[in-house]
Amino acid sequence: MLHLVGNKNNEHEKVVMTTDADSGLTAIIAIHNTRLGPAVGGCRMFPYAQDDDALEDALRLSRGMTYKSALAGLPFGGGKSVIIGDPRRDKTPALLRAMGEFVNSLAGHYCIAEDSGTSPADMRVIAETTPHVTGIEKTCREDPSPATALGVFLGLKAGVKQAFGHDTLTGRTVAIQGLGHVGYHLAGYLSAAGAKVFASDINAENLLRAEKDFGIEPVAPEKILHHTCDILAPCAMGAILNEDSIAKLRTQVIAGAANNQLATDADDDRLKARNIIYCPDFAINAGGIVDIYQQQQNASQETRALAIQRIGQNVADILERAQGMKLGAQQIAVAVAEEKLNACSQNERVYQWAGNP
Ligand code: NAD
Repeated sequence: MLHLVGNKNNEHEKVVMTTDADSGLTAIIAIHNTRLGPAVGGCRMFPYAQDDDALEDALRLSRGMTYKSALAGLPFGGGKSVIIGDPRRDKTPALLRAMGEFVNSLAGHYCIAEDSGTSPADMRVIAETTPHVTGIEKTCREDPSPATALGVFLGLKAGVKQAFGHDTLTGRTVAIQGLGHVGYHLAGYLSAAGAKVFASDINAENLLRAEKDFGIEPVAPEKILHHTCDILAPCAMGAILNEDSIAKLRTQVIAGAANNQLATDADDDRLKARNIIYCPDFAINAGGIVDIYQQQQNASQETRALAIQRIGQNVADILERAQGMKLGAQQIAVAVAEEKLNACSQNERVYQWAGNP
């Protein structure tokens, strides 16, 4: 069954929900904007307490994907899907195939990819019922996370340069929240650059692996956000920067991979008021999608490396503009992304489909 669900502020082009009794699938797909291309975005599986929480996540994450692709200069729009359920308990091949059929019902205007709670292996099952799956093409490496981590590392250096006048990381202290696919590789880049890395993870295995491979110093999960450091790198969950946590931060720069780090728009101003340099999430964490696109284009190693390097420059430009205009960096990043979308006027839009308003 397919039905339209609420679309707050009428900002999204299409928001659809499905329930499938046979497989137990309940899922939402949000297409935020397809002006620059078909909506591309990951599929998150999480045991949301209420459908409204899942909807909120899909709406916010799909908007972030529009901005991420626009800033990175990719011919993609923004979309995201969420499956309501516990990935460890509820994920079955039948549920994934039903998800593929749901994606297929949008005729290519939304292209699914892995996200938290789903994996490349799950995407291969989804691909049994839809061709609109990205990141699993023969030309693509399976895991985009090392490229995401490299983009975060380069953006982080831009933040350090603005805070301290140079981007040398030797002796700088970094606190990483989450040592999963991205956090682990980021810890590797930082250690190799001479930074002192503190990190936490609720998964003891992930913590041990980074301790063994990079000599990170473990910190308890409840203490990591307030650990005294030069740079805080959130690489686990969203909405960790809020009124309460910002008041207790003891860092000068925030640069991490997690999506939707700010709980509300007001948190951008709160960080600014505390003189903490914030590298906007959708600008700094674009490395994975940039690299997937380059691989789809059969780009050379050199072109791929250059494309990821641009993330560092994009973050530097946003931070410079924010400083010059005395505004929060998130506000500037949104404005730059919207400039790029508006530069492509309705008549000249790169991508047309019947579902557009
Ligand atoms: P992941 O699931 O592999 O890793 C997240 C890690 O955080 C896990 O090891 C988990 O145990 C840990 N964690 C969860 N809650 C925690 C807590 N309270 N304290 C400390 N650790 C905690 O995810 P990932 O692929 O590494 O992505 C990390 C973040 O970056 C996510 O928000 C994701 O949406 C975002 N992101 C990832 C990519 C990518 O290429 N993987 C791209 C863009 C954005």
